[in-house]
Amino acid sequence: MSLPEPRPSVLAIPAIHSDPPAAPGSGLFMLSYNENPYPPLPGVLEVAAAAAGRMNRYPDMANEELYAALAAHLGVDADQVVASTGSSSFFYQLVQAYCEPGDEVVFAWRAFEAYPVAAAAGAARVVRVPLTPEGRHDLDAMAAAVTDRTRLVIVCTPNNPTSEAVTHAELAAFLRAVPERVVVAVDEAYLEFVRMDDPIRGLALLPEHPNLVLVRTFSKAYGLAGLRVGYAVAAAPVVSALRAVAPPFGISVVAQAAAVASLEHEPALLARVDALVGERDRVVAGLTASGLTLHAPQANFVWLPLRERAAEFAAAARQRGLVIRAFADEGCRVTIGEPEANDRLIELAHACG
Ligand SMILES: *Cc1c(COP(=O)(O)O)cnc(C)c1O
Repeated sequence: MSLPEPRPSVLAIPAIHSDPPAAPGSGLFMLSYNENPYPPLPGVLEVAAAAAGRMNRYPDMANEELYAALAAHLGVDADQVVASTGSSSFFYQLVQAYCEPGDEVVFAWRAFEAYPVAAAAGAARVVRVPLTPEGRHDLDAMAAAVTDRTRLVIVCTPNNPTSEAVTHAELAAFLRAVPERVVVAVDEAYLEFVRMDDPIRGLALLPEHPNLVLVRTFSKAYGLAGLRVGYAVAAAPVVSALRAVAPPFGISVVAQAAAVASLEHEPALLARVDALVGERDRVVAGLTASGLTLHAPQANFVWLPLRERAAEFAAAARQRGLVIRAFADEGCRVTIGEPEANDRLIELAHACG
């Protein structure tokens, strides 16, 4: 008797890495998911709680209020925006909408761990292009990796886990180099934290590039990670394909209401992001003083290229109540958290010399 067999690509998906949420009173600081340490923006919790009172009803499947709010916020048409259950979902939807089995998905490596999983789940072939030694995207090599079978290229900027960002000029040149029949998804999960010369202005590139998708999220700067809501901005035909393959009623009543309310609090959002960027500067200065080499991180996390010392550093962090993410023999990714957590990280770096 033969049992049901998943596709080989599905069997090859590695077990996910997960850290349990810190139990109240455990004294642990969670610095492994790049979460926002702040509570919801002012007024958002009240709106979400009121929406929870409507949980016996399905959410608006068309997400009309959210799309109108996003379109107004971004200055685009409502048919250029699409929401999802966290922006991670878009990578699955892009593969589903654009790839036949065996078609190729190109991305840098190491980058966000969801990309190879989304490709495998959709039976697409993964093409990983190594980052430069500085942890930056090698966009020339990525453009050169595009073949007749390539349907999707993903640019993660700032990159998770290296925190390095692509410039506007670099992205514009890349879009000119990649054929228009290939979807270019730019994962801007950490967009709000970027402080560099010539930052990407993705919305300005959309009119010229009907194959460009900007993938964004409410999970990081907006602090709604637990509600699962992300959005993408693209030309209407791409948006329509993404909407077509979305599981129905994905964005809950509470998530829709909280996302709309969050968009109304831009000044409070920017103040918090600025405070986190200030903490990031302080962490970079502290770690650099202890002898670690860091480039200028652009997200709400730092990357410590510790190589064979990564696991040991993460264990020492745990001893100090910090849960960080180690990639064995590569490095550690550490979220910028509460000032006390950041202090402990700086102290640890000094102790480890
Ligand atoms: C956190 C993160 C996301 C967002 O995930 P959500 O599903 O929206 O919570 C997307 N891309 C990258 C690179 C990330 O680090």
